[in-house]
Order: sequence, then structure tokens, then C-alpha cells
Amino acid sequence: MSSSAKPLIRVTVWGEYRHEKKNPKVAKLYPQGMHQTIADALAKLGGGDFAVRTATLDEPEHGLSDAVLDSTDVLTWWGHMAHGDVSDAVVAKVRRRVLEGMGLIVLHSGHYSKIFKALMGDTCSLTWREATDKERLWVTCPSHPIARGLPPYIELPAEEMYGEPFGIPTPDELIFISWFTGGEVFRSGATWRRGNGNIFYFRPGHETYPTYHNPLVQQVIANGVRWAHSGLRIKDQAPNMKPLEPLPPDPEAAERPTEGHK
Ligand code: ZN
Repeated sequence: MSSSAKPLIRVTVWGEYRHEKKNPKVAKLYPQGMHQTIADALAKLGGGDFAVRTATLDEPEHGLSDAVLDSTDVLTWWGHMAHGDVSDAVVAKVRRRVLEGMGLIVLHSGHYSKIFKALMGDTCSLTWREATDKERLWVTCPSHPIARGLPPYIELPAEEMYGEPFGIPTPDELIFISWFTGGEVFRSGATWRRGNGNIFYFRPGHETYPTYHNPLVQQVIANGVRWAHSGLRIKDQAPNMKPLEPLPPDPEAAERPTEGHK
């Protein structure tokens, strides 16, 4: 019997969870960690469609065991001060899952994470400033699912500035462009397809500001989860194909090596 129920989207919110333990200002804003604030918002905004759990750097395998990754439809990633502490083996496992179809949402300083750089194949560098900037994120693609329910722009009264040039490959879709008080602009919301996986980068979220408590920021991340979810896992393989129609005689058949591609 078929069911009309929407598929449950299994979300893992990954947080580095180091700033919150070291900086009292960050701990005050996010007493349970930024990842928990994001996870709580997603659980609420998912309206029963999201099954949300968290994982952090200092757990075994950074909380990203094979069992967790195999039961994650969309992974969100926030890291900053400890990108170098993320094991290359875990990065390789996450990358493989993204290529198979797992969605990935990279937040703020995650632009310099090993996983984002590996998937972008670029520097992912940018200009930055921690000062008194206001940020205004303009929606450049109002019909996009990630922009659903949003006003024409989101204004954040105080944020870290990120400016162009942003060292990313040309995005498949650009959803937001930010303007900052200091005059800079930045491609703040962008998507790519890598293999079978959907990737969304979303800029705001410096740890010393209450950005992840902002309802519109939370809405964007929830929209991003729905957009990135494919429900697919397509294993990478390079099969040898038998022809579907009869082929003419192959004059080089005797000389052709028989071993397959490695
Ligand atoms: Zn930052």
C-alpha cells in the first residue's frame, strides 16, 4: 500500500564546538553550542519532516561514523578555528557520501573547511573584517526553493564582513548577494552539484553574533535542507558495458587488453 507521507529528512548538524568552550561571549550567545541552536531551529521549522541530530569535532570520528553518515540525508557544517583537526579520513568519507547524493550545507567560516575546499577544488579564500559592519543579504533568485518565504532582503545589524573575490568555482545558482557597511559585496548564498550531491554555501554566522537565533537565517538553512535533500545514494562505479545492438566485427579484438578500468 502506498503512503502519501512525505519522506523524513535525516539531518546531521555538525559543529566544531570549540569557540563556545573558550570564549565566554560565544558561550553566552550559544550555551549549548551553535550546532544545538541550529538543530533546535531545524527541528522546529521542519514541522515533523526533519529528524535532526548533532555531531561535533571532539567526539570519536568527529561524530561522523559510517553508521551516522549512512543515515544522513543532509549534513550541515560549521567550523572555524580547528579545520586542521578534522581527520582526512573523515573528510574523504563525507566527500564520497556527497558524491553519492548526500546534501551538504556549508555555513560561514566553513568556507575554509577541508570538505568544502575538497569539493570546490579551489582556494575558497576571501577578504574579511571583524568590525561594526551591518550586513544586508539581497535575494537574487526569489523563485528558488532556498528563498521561499523570504522578504527581498535580510538585514543583520552586526556581522563579520566577508568580501570578494571569493575563491569558488562559478556557482550553479546564486541565491544571495551581501552588502556591508564598509562597501564590500559578497556572493553569500550559492549552490553547486558535485556528483549526485547538492551543496549550498550560506555566509552569515560569525560566532560572536546572535546570527543563528535570527528567524530568517534559520528559515534559509531549513529551506536549504529541503532543497539539498535528494534521498539518493548512487555508488560510484565504472562498469564494462555489453552492447545493446549487434556490433560489426572488431578487427582489433585479438589485441585488445581484457582487464577492465581500474
Ligand atoms: Zn567568522
